[in-house]
Formats: sequence, C-alpha cells, structure tokens
Amino acid sequence: MKTFDVAIVGAGPAGAVAARCLALSGHEVLLIDDTSHVLKVGESLPGSAYPLLFELGLLPWLHASQPLPCVGNVVSWGQEALYCRDFMREPYGAGWHLCRQAFDAALRNAAGDAGVTGCTQRFEQVQRAGNRWLLTLREEQVGARWVIDASGRSACVARRLGVKRERDQRLIALYSRTQHVAGDQRTCIEAVANGWWYSAALPGDKRIAALHLTPCEAQKVLKDRHGWLAQWDKTRHIRRHSGSGEWSPPHACEAGGSYLQQVAGEHWLAVGDAALAFDPLSAQGIFNALYSAMRGAQTVQAALAGQHESTQQYTAQLLSVRRAYVRMLDIQYRREQRWADQAFWQVRQQ
Ligand SMILES: Cc1cc2nc3c(=O)[nH]c(=O)nc-3n(C[C@H](O)[C@H](O)[C@H](O)COP(=O)(O)OP(=O)(O)OC[C@H]3O[C@@H](n4cnc5c(N)ncnc54)[C@H](O)[C@@H]3O)c2cc1C
Repeated sequence: MKTFDVAIVGAGPAGAVAARCLALSGHEVLLIDDTSHVLKVGESLPGSAYPLLFELGLLPWLHASQPLPCVGNVVSWGQEALYCRDFMREPYGAGWHLCRQAFDAALRNAAGDAGVTGCTQRFEQVQRAGNRWLLTLREEQVGARWVIDASGRSACVARRLGVKRERDQRLIALYSRTQHVAGDQRTCIEAVANGWWYSAALPGDKRIAALHLTPCEAQKVLKDRHGWLAQWDKTRHIRRHSGSGEWSPPHACEAGGSYLQQVAGEHWLAVGDAALAFDPLSAQGIFNALYSAMRGAQTVQAALAGQHESTQQYTAQLLSVRRAYVRMLDIQYRREQRWADQAFWQVRQQ
C-alpha cells in the first residue's frame, strides 16, 4: 500500500488549494473526492480575494473558469428602498460570480499541475496505524503521514476522529436557477419578514435566487409545490431584479454557521467549511476556504519539518477568523429591525 506525505479528503476550493500548496513545497499529496454527492450552489467571490489568489498563483486558473464580474450589491436591508454598494470604489474592485463546477475543476487542475495525485473515491474511515494514518476509501486503502479534512460541512474525517461540530442558529437555503441572458450583474439582497433573499447572475447566462429561512419555515414552503415561487412573488426587489425566466424546482441545503470544536490535532487538521462554515450573508465562505487552506498547508509543512507548535498557531488563527465573523454577522442581522417580532429575526437579534 502506498503511503503519501499528506492525504486530503475533499477537493472543493479548500482541499484543492491545500493540495497545491503542499505539492509545490515538494510533498507527495493525494487528493480524494467523490464529487458526485455534493450540489454546488453557484456563488460570488469578493474582490478582496485578489491578493490571496495572486499569492497562491491562482489568478490564471480563476480566469480559466470564466467567471462573470460582480460589480456591486443592491440591497434592501433595514429599509424598504434599495441602496447600492459599488465594488468599483473598494480597494480591489469587482469580485466574481462563479460557476462552482468550473471554478472547482480549475482549482483541481491547478493542484494536478503542481503534481498532486487525484483519486475519485468516497472516503469511509480513518485510523492510526503506527506512525501513519490508514484511510479506507470505497475501493482501496491508502497510507498518509498527515491527513487534512477538507470535506466541507460534513467534516467527515474530524467526525470519525470523534471531534464534535457546533452549530449556530439553523438556516436553510432554498435555491433555484433560471436561464437569464441579459440583466443586472450586481447581486440583489432583500430582507423579508421570514428571512432574506439573494439573487445573482451566474456564468453561462444563468441566474440563481436563494431564500434563507428557519428549518420550520423552509419545511412549510417546500410542502407546497408552488411555495418557493409564491414567496418569490411576494418580494419587492428580487422579483424585478431576477427577470421573468422559468425557475427550476428549489433545492434545500444547510446554510447556517457551524464549526469544529477542535480544528487541528496530532497529525491532522481541518480547512475550509470543514473547520468553519459561514452564513452566506457574510459572503466569506470561499475566501475562508482559500485562506485556511493556505494556512493549513503551511502548518502541515512546518509540522513535517519538525515544528509541532504550528498547529496551535493555526488553531489561534482560525479562532480569530471565527470571532471576527461572529461580530460582523451580529452587526448585519441587528441592522434589520423592521420585523423584530418575527421568529427568524428574534433569534438573530437576542
Ligand atoms: C446557499 C449558500 C450560498 C453561498 N454563497 C456563497 C457566496 O456567495 N460566496 C462565498 O464565498 N461562499 C458562499 N457559500 C459558502 C461556500 O459554498 C463554501 O464556503 C465553500 O464551498 C467551502 O469550500 P470547501 O472546499 O471548504 O468545501 P466544499 O466546497 O463543500 O467541498 C467539500 C468537498 O468534499 C467532498 N467530500 C465530502 N465528503 C466526502 C467523502 N466522504 N469522500 C470524498 N469526498 C467527500 C465533496 O464532494 C466536496 O467536493 C454559500 C453557501 C451556501 C450554502
């Protein structure tokens, strides 16, 4: 059985970037993903990710995925009228609307280009055997000196190691796509009595709209075949912003913040959503995936070179990211006071 320096479970943005960084520093890396079981929503990356993408040498790979420019947000939050946040006035300018399949594939190609070995299999189990990990995949076993959990919200490696996951307020996203050629390339965000919406352009003449609700409200909406459309119809701005295309049946996914009680241990660590997952209102999920992947890879590199205190530093870095996120999200939710008596807003403003 082959033993790699590092095995990474999950080839989303976090896993692919951690793999590339470690391969570029001369390590033998296995990147494992069973890509069939996760639906990728279709998201935006803020322009503030530019320096990070530059440092990681990923700008050409981003452009290869053909993102659309994201020039700003139009927002109805805390007031009925829309106000505009123009990204062209921000230090790094426009961000990008991503096709997640294309973006993730580009990052996996960047990892492959750096010498990473890819493996399309489901990860099932991990155990310590002497001075290495033994990973059981669907069809084989592999060995590794270090393992990185980049499996997204499922955090399947950390869970197998017995680490618990904490959840913030539950939040369910009900999202749908439509074909939409022309239109406003800004993202529209609208708060409503039972939650909030966003609508954004996607590459390939598509558009996404997502409604964020409590699990109980989401269930009610899904019970009715036309429930999502009825909610969409009630919006003041999202409806106008996202045109008149035909919407696909809505998908539901967990969207609330969550985090691992422990993000690193003996010869393992977690990156991206596996370590810290964010409410989409923050629009920081992919940025955090890239950042934590880079920091995680540096930590593993240092540990493989014998510097074992580096996992403590990594834990402290992620803790400060989590604190900043909680502070910002709290401010954002408190800015909407029009429905302070509604369950969705009450739990977020306590
Ligand atoms: C509704 C919604 C909207 C969002 N909008 C935005 C946005 O606009 N901007 C933004 O920055 N972020 C947004 N996010 C967050 C963003 O999607 C995540 O932060 C990002 O995908 C995290 O990347 P990751 O690599 O950590 O995990 P993922 O992208 O989830 O990748 C994990 C990978 O692990 C693999 N995997 C899992 N289990 C196994 C297993 N057992 N075996 C093998 N492989 C496995 C999966 O196949 C997957 O490819 C949004 C999230 C939601 C839910």
